[in-house]
Amino acid sequence: MIACKFGGSSLADAQNIRRAADIIRANPERRFVVVSAPGKRNAGDTKITDHLIRFYHTGDVKDFQPIEDRFAEIISELGVEIDLSQDYAEMKHQRHNVDYMASCGEYLSARIMAAYLGWPFVDTEFCVFFDEQGRLDRRKTERTLRDKLSQLEHAVLPGYYGAMPDGQVHTFSRGGSDISGALVAAAMHAEVYENWTDVNGILTADPRIVSQAVTIPTITYEELQEMTYQGATVLHEDAVRPAWDAGIPIHICNTFCPEAEGTWIRAENVTHDNPVTGVAGRKGFSVISIEKEKMNAMVGYVRKTLSCLERYSVAFEHMATGLSAFSLVVPTAALESCRDALTQDIRKAVDPDRLEITDGFAMIAVVGFGMMNRPGISGKLFSAVGDIGTNVRIIDQGGSPMSIVIGVEEACFEDSTRAIYKKFFDCASA
Ligand code: ASP
Repeated sequence: MIACKFGGSSLADAQNIRRAADIIRANPERRFVVVSAPGKRNAGDTKITDHLIRFYHTGDVKDFQPIEDRFAEIISELGVEIDLSQDYAEMKHQRHNVDYMASCGEYLSARIMAAYLGWPFVDTEFCVFFDEQGRLDRRKTERTLRDKLSQLEHAVLPGYYGAMPDGQVHTFSRGGSDISGALVAAAMHAEVYENWTDVNGILTADPRIVSQAVTIPTITYEELQEMTYQGATVLHEDAVRPAWDAGIPIHICNTFCPEAEGTWIRAENVTHDNPVTGVAGRKGFSVISIEKEKMNAMVGYVRKTLSCLERYSVAFEHMATGLSAFSLVVPTAALESCRDALTQDIRKAVDPDRLEITDGFAMIAVVGFGMMNRPGISGKLFSAVGDIGTNVRIIDQGGSPMSIVIGVEEACFEDSTRAIYKKFFDCASA
């Protein structure tokens, strides 16, 4: 049995929905289908979820109209018998919860797909559960999904949302239908979790930066997690865990090119000639640098500093330590509302000799299982960036055995990524 998930661009209009339905029908093993809300039809278009969030904020029925219009067009072009007027009326009325509003696109999309396929609709509001803090309750979710779906031959489910203990609708973060699909696959012990999207798979680098980037045929869950965390965006980062724990391979497929091989994500490491699987990176980081003489001999110095970050809910992503100084890399956005207060708090807590926050950093990760125990990788990496005159400001190697992360100034991000890519990928194919 295969569980599949179709993303927003795969369901953006009637033609695409028909294409997705053809893919579903082409293999009888595809029994449980999770759908996103209709996404963009072209670069200038607006996703249904964004329309819904806008409507939540303005409350202006004019802002709900594009949503009704888009679904009306889809329904009429597909020729399905379905009346959603009651649903629209309720949505316009129940504006008190932004998550509820945002979830409506998936709900309507799944109702339409279910009607088009002639399959049962199963609402995830009653099978995906979050706790009071909004954290997914995986055990209860998987048990409930299994109970409900085991009784059915087929089903279409909306992705992206579930319910809080008080019954209020709650969503995952954006792109979260990937997680819903993984949960269905895990609950039903699917042989494969197919994730249908609009690209041929996970690429070796961001194609907007590296035009020679190619599809990675196979990648491990761990490598993918590392790539996603560092900026690769094909799959939601939280979608990997449920499939990984259940040992279910994830197959990334292209709705617009179903014959493409796609990317297989599995536990087993396939040895490539190239020790590097991919290069990923992101901008938007700040570095908090702290100096204190003889810091290395002081017990609890770093812990006290980290407690300050904790008080302001700032998560750090990398840490580099030395004898009398250490640096923390944090997303700049996390400092937006607390920069001054956090600085003061750190000064008070640990009395540093110097404390500085520098913005404008990008982090670049070189990821690959094959890098482990293979000498010369860092040498190659640093010569790649050194050759183009990039100053590496942060180095993080060892946190994960399969990645080396460097921090550079944002202005050098694209060139450095290209230089690193060229060094590892051109050499491999030479
Ligand atoms: N529709 C939601 C979004 O636009 C969730 C998803 O597509 O997975 O983020």
